[in-house]
Amino acid sequence: MIIDGKAVAERIRKEIAAEVEQMVQQHNLRPGLATVLVGTDPASQTYVSMKRKACAEAGIESFGHELSADSSQDYVLGVVRELNADPRVHGILVQLPLPKHIDEEAILNAISIQKDVDGFHPLNIGRLSMKGRDPLFMPCTPLGCMVLLEEVGAKFDGANAVVLGRSNIVGLPAAMMLLKRNATVSIVHSRSKDPAAMCREADILIAAVGRPHMVKGDWIKPGALVIDVGVNRIDDPSRKSGYRLVGDVDYEAAKDVAGAITPVPGGVGPMTIAMLLQNTLRAAKMTLPVNA
Ligand code: NAP
Repeated sequence: MIIDGKAVAERIRKEIAAEVEQMVQQHNLRPGLATVLVGTDPASQTYVSMKRKACAEAGIESFGHELSADSSQDYVLGVVRELNADPRVHGILVQLPLPKHIDEEAILNAISIQKDVDGFHPLNIGRLSMKGRDPLFMPCTPLGCMVLLEEVGAKFDGANAVVLGRSNIVGLPAAMMLLKRNATVSIVHSRSKDPAAMCREADILIAAVGRPHMVKGDWIKPGALVIDVGVNRIDDPSRKSGYRLVGDVDYEAAKDVAGAITPVPGGVGPMTIAMLLQNTLRAAKMTLPVNA
């Protein structure tokens, strides 16, 4: 089964748009997302503009803050604090990576946890990692992976889950989410001894390493659910652009073995923005009086 992330994301975005409209009608409250972009990195500019466009389509107001690459850390902190205090802003997204002279941790720490729609605040990550605690928000890309797994009826309880990669934005929170759902979780990273053998044990496999086609067809346990987060450019002279995007999994070989698998593109990618909108709606809901 091919997991159509694009279709799932579109459905979720429509549901969010309907809920936003209802919130405006019933409570005169329109969710708002502030984006903070420091510098002019073209990829970051593209991501931010995609997020703002998605907000507009869902009826969520967005407030763009574009700061020059040489902005001081204090200045960026000042912007975040102003946004924390602004009642029109329910979610704050600081686009990463930040320029080298800015301490990412200090900036993420400064975001109010009630507005931490990226889910990267240490308190939210800490709660995600602790038994019996729940974060207010979870990071969007791994959350999107979990939604796709639910879509195909994944049974998490007691399943062997393997996550390839341990980054703060994808691998590590994905592993924590699987653990919260009572999977038995292994994490493969660059020092792991035998990634292939570990992957072959996986009922659920999430690959987030950024290595094109690292996961071969014979690494997949027959019937496993495979979520490919990787987005890698490889040369393709047959394309006008000269390249194409592939995942961390050798899709052609894996699709015949896996029970279900996400393609690249069109799998996890579209889910990230859908989850950001969902988190922003949730942040706005949290400001309503109880029982509203
Ligand atoms: P990252 O920060 O570079 O982390 C990569 C992880 O993979 C690290 O934990 C690294 O291990 C591990 N790794 C690298 N080479 C390995 C190897 N040969 N064997 C085993 N583990 C290895 O990357 P990221 O930000 O998590 O992103 C991962 C991929 O997902 C990228 O292709 C990225 O473009 C994509 N991505 C997609 C979305 C989306 O679709 N919305 C969002 C975010 C990222 P160490 O920790 O030991 O170095």
